[in-house]
Amino acid sequence: MKIAEVFIHVLDHRLETPFESASMRFDRRQHCLVEIVCDDGTTGWGECLGPALPNAAVVKAYAARLIGRDPLETEKLWQELYNFMRDQGQRGLAITALSGIDVALWDIKGKRFGVSIATLLGGRFRDSVKAYATGSFRKDGVDRISDNAEETAGHVAAGFHAVKIKIGFDPAEDLKVIAAVREAIGPDTRLMIDANHGYDVIEAVRVGQRAAEYDVDWFEEPVIPEQLEAYRAVRAGQPIPVAGGETWHGRFGFKEPIETRAIDIAQPDLCGTGGFTEMRRIADMAALHGVRLVPHVWGTAVQIAASLQFVAALPPDPPRREPIEPIFEFDRTANPFRQAIAKVPFEHHGGVVHIPDAPGLGLEIDRAALAEFRLKEQPA
Ligand SMILES: [Mg+2]
Repeated sequence: MKIAEVFIHVLDHRLETPFESASMRFDRRQHCLVEIVCDDGTTGWGECLGPALPNAAVVKAYAARLIGRDPLETEKLWQELYNFMRDQGQRGLAITALSGIDVALWDIKGKRFGVSIATLLGGRFRDSVKAYATGSFRKDGVDRISDNAEETAGHVAAGFHAVKIKIGFDPAEDLKVIAAVREAIGPDTRLMIDANHGYDVIEAVRVGQRAAEYDVDWFEEPVIPEQLEAYRAVRAGQPIPVAGGETWHGRFGFKEPIETRAIDIAQPDLCGTGGFTEMRRIADMAALHGVRLVPHVWGTAVQIAASLQFVAALPPDPPRREPIEPIFEFDRTANPFRQAIAKVPFEHHGGVVHIPDAPGLGLEIDRAALAEFRLKEQPA
């Protein structure tokens, strides 16, 4: 079995209603998928977190090194590709592009042996996972406070046990949003806040101190990801557990945050931090240091499928009769191709997502939907 071809698919959709986090505006949804085809016809799918066209360029740079190679040698190929970019790589697009390739190779490996990736990783600890609803971005010309309250009440009505909202815009307004959302979702729904590194330390500490009375599960990306001392200051200065990691790449990117306890909850993104190969090492490191792991998930059905496989194989930590079950990030924002590209979409039922047990990612791609949402000017 040899790798015959690597295809890059950039999917694109212009949003009717743009939305914003504290650090980014979304006028379009664009995601980069990787398709690896073997000489026996086996096909694997992966996805790269982050800007689609730059990711596509780096995947293309890696692709020539994959042709003719054995796709089952996931560790060997990971090391080779990492070394190829290492001196100018180490993080960022060098790793997000490698992630998409690694996920596709694991999909092929699962299909080759006729088992799910969770089985390859050592077995399924669970067949389903409770999802939390991610949303509540800022929209143009809309009152954030009532909009977020209404949206999150809708998630609770749909069965979600937990919601995550966007803050990091303006501390005073953010606190009003948090209060209104807690009122809207009631006392029994878990609430998480995500500042998308919009605050400085002083703001983050003040917001955390005041938001704590609304029973907040975690405070995500309070400050910019480069400033680990600032992370530690936020942890020390306010009572809400601090989460982060969607922009930290690979085991080296997580080493210092975990070892110095800059975070209570690590949020590596499978399609951004190095794929299954590297995610395992990060999960082991987090468990070793007693840091909780909640993967970041922001992508299409390919990323959802991959992250579900990883979560299925995540051991309970600590092991006990009623273990702390992982929770799964479920993006509720507008993205028409997110589920359309899967023949069987990943839907939640009462806030719970079933984890497939079919070979590889357990995902079948809908080629017609892929064609429909393909960016018209594909990268060469
Ligand atoms: Mg986030």
